[in-house]
Amino acid sequence: MPATQTELDTLIDTRRDLHRHPELGFEEVRTAAVVAERLRAAGYDVRTGIAETGVVGEMRGGAGAGPTLLLRADMDALPIAEECTHGFVSTHQGRMHACGHDAHVAIGLAVAERLAASRGEWGGTVRYVFQPAEEGGGGALRMIEEGGILEGVDAALGLHVWLGMPSGVVGVVPGPFMASAGEFEITVQGRGGHGAIPDETVDAILVASQIVVALQTVVSRSVSPLESAVVSVGVFHAGTAQNIIADTAVLKGTVRAFDPALCADLPRRIDRIVKGVCDSMGATHDFHYQQDCPPTVNDPELAETVRLAAEEVVGRDRVRTDPGVRTMAAEDFGEMLARVPGCYFFVGARDERRGMVHPHHSPRFDLCEDCLPTAVDVLERAARRVLAGG
Ligand SMILES: [Zn+2]
Ligand SMILES: [Zn+2]
Repeated sequence: MPATQTELDTLIDTRRDLHRHPELGFEEVRTAAVVAERLRAAGYDVRTGIAETGVVGEMRGGAGAGPTLLLRADMDALPIAEECTHGFVSTHQGRMHACGHDAHVAIGLAVAERLAASRGEWGGTVRYVFQPAEEGGGGALRMIEEGGILEGVDAALGLHVWLGMPSGVVGVVPGPFMASAGEFEITVQGRGGHGAIPDETVDAILVASQIVVALQTVVSRSVSPLESAVVSVGVFHAGTAQNIIADTAVLKGTVRAFDPALCADLPRRIDRIVKGVCDSMGATHDFHYQQDCPPTVNDPELAETVRLAAEEVVGRDRVRTDPGVRTMAAEDFGEMLARVPGCYFFVGARDERRGMVHPHHSPRFDLCEDCLPTAVDVLERAARRVLAGG
């Protein structure tokens, strides 16, 4: 169903209003109020305050029995000072919708309203989940554990507006789509001393440097070239003065993988290398690993459902299904897809001509709003295909 001008205006206005008022994870109070009000007005049974600020709207279709379909949008912004110059920049100091979750909420509300308007035509139940704290706060898991949002769910759908693809293109891939994310912290304990008398010390900086280099072999030499994984060291803290050999060094990094078994085994492989290097150089170490979220793995049948819906909206040649669409970025919708079948997909939001090219989480991130009605059409059609009578 093509968008009416009123619906288009509301879609853009909602996105821009939320963009002006970004809220960090578990602080999405204003956003949640906007969501709850719109869902209630559309006729949904609404629960609020789940996992702090989460909102769930539920509605039964009028065409009899059918599956329970979960649709999900994330609501949180990032602690970034916006550098965009458009007319709806963030009014909250140091906070910005730099990932596009403002768009996700606007799209979600539009889809929820369309489904409500066509309630008599579909069977089953729609459960629309607006979750807090996707950006590293574990919002999805808390919604699952505290809100019971997956109870009775037969299928789950979600999307991300994506600067990696031009506006007008949709990307959907069966199987692993986004990576798992885990983080590690390594503390190397050496023996500090005088910079001129290294033979009486164990140089923690040198040991940690060897570890950084050796960690590069985890992916290049212990993971099959046909698999995908990333081990990145992002923090290296050590030392106090130019003539002191450092006593300790701290390394922090991130680990990504598609394969659940591999992602479970990578911490062991990292620890083995750290231990080996430390042993060989007379240092000791502490190793902490935290698994943040599992890979986002799409059910092949539901990925096909989304592909067909996307083809109807943008045409076959503008739907990408090749593995190049996947990303090693992580997404906590993976927590839901680890428990129920579903599909997560990308809606292109890049516009080179208008300078909308800056990546997600950049202070200059901006998205082509033409992607909003596209996303609404694809998600609504996919939802209707899942729901009986759609
Ligand atoms: Zn993000
Ligand atoms: Zn995001």
